[in-house]
Amino acid sequence: MKRNVLIIGAGGVAHVVAHKCAQNNKLLGDIHIASRTLSKCEAIIDSIKEKNNLQHPGILKAHQLDAFDIEATKALIRSTNSQIVINVGTPFLNMSVLEACIGTGAAYLDTAIHEEPDLICETPPWYANYEWKRAEACEKAGVTAVLGVGFDPGVVNAYARFAYDNYFDKVDSIDIIDINAGNHGRYFATNFDPEINFREFIETVWSWEDNKWKASQMFEHSKEWDMPIIGKSVAYLTGHDEIHSLSHFLDVPNIRFWMGFGEHYINVFNVLKNLGLLSEKPVRTARGVEIVPLEVVKAVLPDPASLAPGYTGKTCIGDLVKGSKDGQEKEVFLYNSCDHEACYKEVGSQAISYTAGVPAVAAAILIADGTWDAKRMVNVEEQDPAPFISLMNTMGLVTRIKDEYGDRVLDPMRDLPVQEPVKIRA
Ligand code: NDP
Repeated sequence: MKRNVLIIGAGGVAHVVAHKCAQNNKLLGDIHIASRTLSKCEAIIDSIKEKNNLQHPGILKAHQLDAFDIEATKALIRSTNSQIVINVGTPFLNMSVLEACIGTGAAYLDTAIHEEPDLICETPPWYANYEWKRAEACEKAGVTAVLGVGFDPGVVNAYARFAYDNYFDKVDSIDIIDINAGNHGRYFATNFDPEINFREFIETVWSWEDNKWKASQMFEHSKEWDMPIIGKSVAYLTGHDEIHSLSHFLDVPNIRFWMGFGEHYINVFNVLKNLGLLSEKPVRTARGVEIVPLEVVKAVLPDPASLAPGYTGKTCIGDLVKGSKDGQEKEVFLYNSCDHEACYKEVGSQAISYTAGVPAVAAAILIADGTWDAKRMVNVEEQDPAPFISLMNTMGLVTRIKDEYGDRVLDPMRDLPVQEPVKIRA
């Protein structure tokens, strides 16, 4: 049993993580929120109290922390007796926070791959550039580190593993499709940290095709997908974290990530990019001030957390897995659809933050009760996906499956293996 959670960061995702930890504090114990700006941690605590989301009277405390400071982070982990650290700060912090966990023995979770501020779209597989270099250190220290356990990466990795294990003899392709059909009503905004959001799309798009890395340009390849609940949607081949671990752990020749963008987003993105305003390289202004254009764009855009009130519509994110079973071609689509307004009502957040935050807390619960306490570094697809998907079904993120038997809720703890009897009866 591991208890007491330290949440790092106080942005949109941290807000959801804190609410969900509070809803499960009987098992998780004390909850500490630490970030650069103390007032943002305090505001999250106020909103938990306002929504009456604390399951059980317990400790809920805000701390100021610069998480680049490994010694300060270690000291906070120790002084709060935190055995689980959920890192939902900027991805630039990952390696520092991981180091603090290795130094203290606390379990580590994050929802995005590590990034260095001045490097974009590094050589694939991205996990090998930073995180996997510390795998041996985690194993030596007996530290559980679950990498990329948001929705994508995260839940989509679990979907891939679940489909791979249970529905196929051979998988030919996994297409991860992420569509946000919601409307925030602003002229332009990103749904999570704008700096990180843009960095995903600036340079080479890496996809896994015929068992090798293939490079393309952003917005070079698009496809219309007929999605459950939200209907036909155009999505573009995009580089994304999960391809960089799934291609390593699963024997699947084609793994691609598709993200939906409206024409307006693409136009604004192209203007900003062509003007050089998405550059991560510093420039000097006429007044002699050195600035990073991308950081300026982030500073003027709406804070993603501020989009939540009034956000309408739904997301649909899932894995279309194709292959063969018993000599027959087969495909399944595992997915979740999330409603922006319902998320706001429950925890005061929009659905993108919600879909990223809930899985991190589900994983923390599974570490706390021992089910996922691997005592080494793992990507999500290395863990048993069944308890994870099943637990999220009870936490507001319900998984559905669409295949030749129809479209229905998937409870992996009950519905294994594939629902053959249904086919026989039909
Ligand atoms: P935000 O930008 O809203 O929040 C980031 C937080 O990190 C801010 O509170 C910021 O502090 C804090 N922070 C930055 N630097 C430091 C530091 N040195 N020490 C302590 N805290 C610091 O981002 P989001 O909440 O939208 O995203 C959080 C993470 O979740 C990101 O890694 C993002 O990529 C990931 N994500 C993952 C998704 C998934 O499905 N897997 C989906 C969406 C996001 P301050 O408030 O002072 O700026």
